[in-house]
Amino acid sequence: MNLIYLDNNASTPLLPEALEAMRPFLCERFGNPASSHVFGRQARKALEDAREKIAALLEAQPDEVVFTSGATEANNVAMFGLAGPTPARLVTSFLEHPSVLEPINELYRRGNAITYLAVTPDGVLDVGKVRFHEDTRLIAIMLANHETGAIQPIESLLRALSVNGNGRAAVHCDAAAAAGKMPISFRNLGVTTVTISAHKFHGPKGIGALLVRRGVKLHPLHFGGHQQHGQRPGTEPVALAVGMATALEWSLRKLDEHQARLLDLRQRFLAALREHAAPVMVNGPVEGGLPGTLNLSFPGCKADALLMNLDIAGVACSTGSACSSGSLLPSPVLQAMHKTGDILHSAMRFSLSPLLRVADIDEAARRIVQCVNRLRQAHDAEDGSIG
Ligand code: PMP
Repeated sequence: MNLIYLDNNASTPLLPEALEAMRPFLCERFGNPASSHVFGRQARKALEDAREKIAALLEAQPDEVVFTSGATEANNVAMFGLAGPTPARLVTSFLEHPSVLEPINELYRRGNAITYLAVTPDGVLDVGKVRFHEDTRLIAIMLANHETGAIQPIESLLRALSVNGNGRAAVHCDAAAAAGKMPISFRNLGVTTVTISAHKFHGPKGIGALLVRRGVKLHPLHFGGHQQHGQRPGTEPVALAVGMATALEWSLRKLDEHQARLLDLRQRFLAALREHAAPVMVNGPVEGGLPGTLNLSFPGCKADALLMNLDIAGVACSTGSACSSGSLLPSPVLQAMHKTGDILHSAMRFSLSPLLRVADIDEAARRIVQCVNRLRQAHDAEDGSIG
C-alpha cells in the first residue's frame, strides 16, 4: 500500500535542489561565518547571499532578515522583543498558533492586559468590530491560518489602527503558513515584524526568519553573541539558510503554476468526498483562502478515530496544528469560529502539496470515503443498540 501524505501544513519534504545547494556548506565549506580566514569568508558570503535572496523574494531589505531556528523562535523573539519589559495592552485572536498564544499567556502573567479580537464563522478576523485602546503596544495577527487557510485582513486592520489614532503600536504577523504559498511584500504589508519557517515550503527544518522593519529595536531574548546585531545571536546555520533561500525561490518562481494545480486538486478531492461521504462541511472560507488547505467536518465520525483509521489506511492528515494535536482537545481555532458539537469534534485538516499526483488525491479520497462510511455505520449501530 502506498502512503499518501496530506499534512503539508505540518511539514514538507526537502526539495532535492535545496539539499544539493546545502551539501557543500555541511561538508567542505563548513567554516564559521564570523571567522576572518578563507573558510569563514566563504561561509559569510553564502550566508549573506541567502539573506539577500530571501529579502528580495519578500520585498524586504537584507538587514531586515534575522535568521532563527524556525517560526516558534521567530514568534517568541518578536512577541517578547516588541512587548518589552513594562506592561501595556496586547491585542491578538484565538486564530493564532500556540507559538504566539503561549507568549501572550506569559505576557499576561507579567502584567499585560490582553484583548482577543472577534472572529467570523469563516475564520477571518471581524475587523468591523475592532476598536483599539489608547494603550495598545502590540498587535499579533497571522497572515494565513494554518488550520483553515483563511487569509486575514491585515490591510483593514492597519486602517482601523490608524483611524483609532494609535500609530505607536507595533504589529507582528506570523506568515509561517502563508510564506511560499502566496506573494508577500514586507514593504507593502506595513507591519513591524513577519515570521516565516523553511520546512513549510520544502526547505529544511531548523531554520526560519523574522523580518524586522529597519530602525525597530527589539528587546533581546538571547544574550552572548554579536551575530545579527544581537537580535538573535549565535553562529548562523549557513547550510540551512542556503536551503531556505533555494526552497523559497523555487516556491515563488512556480507560485502561479502551484496555485492553479492546488486549486484543481482541492476541487477534485472535495467533489469526490461530497459525492461519496456526504454530509461534508468546509470549515473556513470556501473560496479565497490558501488553495492547499482544506478543513472538513464529517458529522457522525469522531476526528481522533478517523485520524487513526486513516493512518492505518495509509493516509496522513491531522486534526489541527501539529503543535497542539497531541492534546486531543478540540481545535481552539475552530472554537474561535463558533464551531460546536459534531462539527467541532469531527474536523480534519487536509493540506496538499503541488507535488501530489492526481492519482494520489483520488486514491486518498477513496480511502477516506471508506473510513468515514465505516465509522458512521459503527456509530449508527452503537446508537441503535443503546436505543
Ligand atoms: N506558526 C504557524 C502558523 C505554524 O503553522 C507553525 C507550524 N505548525 C508555527 C508557527 C511553528 O513553526 P516551527 O515548526 O517552524 O516552529
